[in-house]
Amino acid sequence: MKIIMLGAPGAGKGTQAKQIADKYSIPHISTGDIFRANLKAGTELGKKAKEYMDQGLLVPDELTCDLVMDRISQDDCKNGFVLDGFPRTIPQAEALDAALTKIGQKMDYAVDVDVPDDNIINRMSGRRACLNCGATYHIVSIPTKTEGVCDRCGNPVVLRDDDQPETVKKRLEVYHAQTQPLIDYYKKQNILKSVDGTQPMEEVFRAIVEILGA
Ligand code: ADP
Ligand code: ADP
Ligand code: ZN
Repeated sequence: MKIIMLGAPGAGKGTQAKQIADKYSIPHISTGDIFRANLKAGTELGKKAKEYMDQGLLVPDELTCDLVMDRISQDDCKNGFVLDGFPRTIPQAEALDAALTKIGQKMDYAVDVDVPDDNIINRMSGRRACLNCGATYHIVSIPTKTEGVCDRCGNPVVLRDDDQPETVKKRLEVYHAQTQPLIDYYKKQNILKSVDGTQPMEEVFRAIVEILGA
């Protein structure tokens, strides 16, 4: 099963993608996590990506597309994968379609996690991320068991540099201008499914499982 998670920054794509990956035993591929891992490892890609990320801008397609195509061609993606944070532009979506068409495949679902902008600012200011394992929490709605410590790996959880309110506003603008058009793109392909992302995490997941099948 090949799934794309769509939605604004902070809509809950990552939270849901992790659960989907567990339930259906497919890899969770987050371009944001890949960029942050590169930054931590001090690679050139990581340094370049950070310049854009810190401004709330998208990393250029040239730096993003090959990376994802490379990842999905790996062995563990044979039975499918869940893409979280990619594609984010029409050219990225076209590149993905072209790469899959070449090997006689296509995406199965694009799941749009719908959350209005008003809720997003609150979600982001309370988000805490583990930069070691990629887990995300929320200080109110999805807290860690021990304050400030990742449940999964025991490392500290932090407010990401790009989750400051001013940067979040910019990211929302970028989302509406560059990523939201993908909703129509996948509607035209008849693979778009929308879920109400304002519900509690478990309810959102239930709605997604209903779409994907048990
Ligand atoms: P969010 O939680 O907002 O969905 P991500 O962790 O997915 O954030 O992405 C963080 C940042 O990484 C984005 O604001 C952007 O700068 C960059 N990024 C991630 N995925 C992409 C992509 N597919 N194309 C361009 N930039 C990306
Ligand atoms: P995205 O990957 O779309 O940027 P995340 O999955 O990181 O979003 O979620 C953004 C923030 O909102 C995190 O702090 C997360 O814990 C929290 N969150 C995710 N889903 C829900 C939900 N259904 N209700 C309330 N908070 C949520
Ligand atoms: Zn962790």
